[in-house]
Amino acid sequence: MIPQPFIDDIQSRSDIAEIIGGYIPLKRAGRNFKAVCPFHAEKTPSFLISPQKQIFHCFGCGAGGGVLQFMMLYEKVTFPEAVQMLATRLGLEVPAQKGAPDSGKQAVYDVLAQAADFYHHNLLKENSRRQLDYLTGRGLDLETIKQFRLGFSGGPLRVMDVLRKKGFTLDLLAKASLVVPGQEGFRDTFFDRVMFPICDTRSRIVGFGARLWQERPGAPKYINSLEGPVYSKREQLFGLNFARDAVMRQDALIIVEGYMDVIVPFSRGIKNIAASSGTALTQEQIKLIRRFTSNVVLVYDSDQAGEAASLRALDPLLANEINLRIVRLPAGHDPDSLVRKEGAEGFRKLLDNGQDFFDFKLSVLCAASDVRTTAGKSAVAKEMFTSISRIKSEIVRYDYLARLAQALSVKEESLIAEFNKGNVSSRQPVAPGPAAGSDPVPLTDKVLVKFMAQSPGAFALIKGNVRPDDFVSAQARQTADYFFKNYSGLGLEAFISSIEDSQVSGFLSDLILDENVPLDKAAFKSSLLKVRGQRLRLEQKLLRDQIREAEKSGDSCLLKQLMTKYMSPK
Ligand SMILES: [Zn+2]
Repeated sequence: MIPQPFIDDIQSRSDIAEIIGGYIPLKRAGRNFKAVCPFHAEKTPSFLISPQKQIFHCFGCGAGGGVLQFMMLYEKVTFPEAVQMLATRLGLEVPAQKGAPDSGKQAVYDVLAQAADFYHHNLLKENSRRQLDYLTGRGLDLETIKQFRLGFSGGPLRVMDVLRKKGFTLDLLAKASLVVPGQEGFRDTFFDRVMFPICDTRSRIVGFGARLWQERPGAPKYINSLEGPVYSKREQLFGLNFARDAVMRQDALIIVEGYMDVIVPFSRGIKNIAASSGTALTQEQIKLIRRFTSNVVLVYDSDQAGEAASLRALDPLLANEINLRIVRLPAGHDPDSLVRKEGAEGFRKLLDNGQDFFDFKLSVLCAASDVRTTAGKSAVAKEMFTSISRIKSEIVRYDYLARLAQALSVKEESLIAEFNKGNVSSRQPVAPGPAAGSDPVPLTDKVLVKFMAQSPGAFALIKGNVRPDDFVSAQARQTADYFFKNYSGLGLEAFISSIEDSQVSGFLSDLILDENVPLDKAAFKSSLLKVRGQRLRLEQKLLRDQIREAEKSGDSCLLKQLMTKYMSPK
């Protein structure tokens, strides 16, 4: 956690127009500035910056917030990273907070970096000739080995001895998953293996993958660091730290499975590539990917591609509005071997010929069912529906349904009717994109939320009298819920400019700049009464129903209770 006073400080020292103006050209428009929005494609500027209020808002795509939110969106960084960047710009250092969860982590990062150094230099030593030969024999040159800081672990007590001599405690080594308890005390986790350092997107080493370089009976080919304070398999994509610039430039990420599947193509010029550990991407990995691109090319070994069940693992990508293309490799190949045999050009050609998700899934399903029969058609349709229902965009959904109808040669209307039957409420939008929600927001909701964002006094009044559920629109509900849960009543401006949820911040910046939403006491009072009145009326109606029930059943005690409640609504 970065101390709030520091965040307040860097925000008050920076001018939003100056900072955004450093990224994109601005035009003055009265008290404000206008620009062509960098977050969606447009020709006429609908991106507004208010120096007075220190916020920006795009009336085209709904993105908005303060200077830190702009940096998060533009630089594709997390909130703490944006704070760090802004601080660096101002020549300030982010203070470390005592007892912060980070301070323990830093020691783990340090020891992992030292271990990586040791493994790497160990690999380059004269007596590691055979291990180095193993790697060069698999197509890696020395430059690549150095860039990825590949290494070799001796063992069984090497890294432990070396690092303990440098003053690291056994406890820390265990936390970093570098040592494990054995029958005779601790020993190295990685013994006689080639080492692949795993980095986060900031290039800090968080763990290791380790591969046998020669057969060892009973030992698994690959092992990984155990989950710990800085390593979680669910959150990592191997190689993304090297790939991130290329991913942003090319606006696409190629996902493969293994370490060598990343390193070999990367060394031959295919830079926008990273590895998941397993074919099902986790929600955390998807979130990470979305910071850099929404286009993913998934590379499958041919033997995995036939399983319809594993296709369902792709649905979360659709739900997160990722454009997915899928490439099947020829039998017996993985990206590593293919690039070595066919070169980067051969691999690129395959990538260009990838299928979109729809065609890919349909072809796998059609190979498994006989779509000439009604039962076959219905089975394929049902399986396709589960994926299509995850897609947020109405237009894309419709397009897929139309293509499906054609592929199965059934009537479009009946297929759509069938789809709607099963999918009235099962859609699960997961990703928060910057796009504005679409339901119309009543003025009363707008007024209350705008007040909430401008006056701590009004916030307290609203919180005391209104529940998030009382708001009519989903956006106001979500925003109120966020405020009620996170805002303490102090430091309103700082709170608003540190909102990490882009939907909430976009909704707020819209309201703050919208001059049609009045900011006077009368409007506030009437909105508060109206929203609250809606709930009270609802509660009264419920009470009346209960009273009628109690009368029917003759429960006089309950009846009395209910009547008292009815006569004195709070
Ligand atoms: Zn926009």
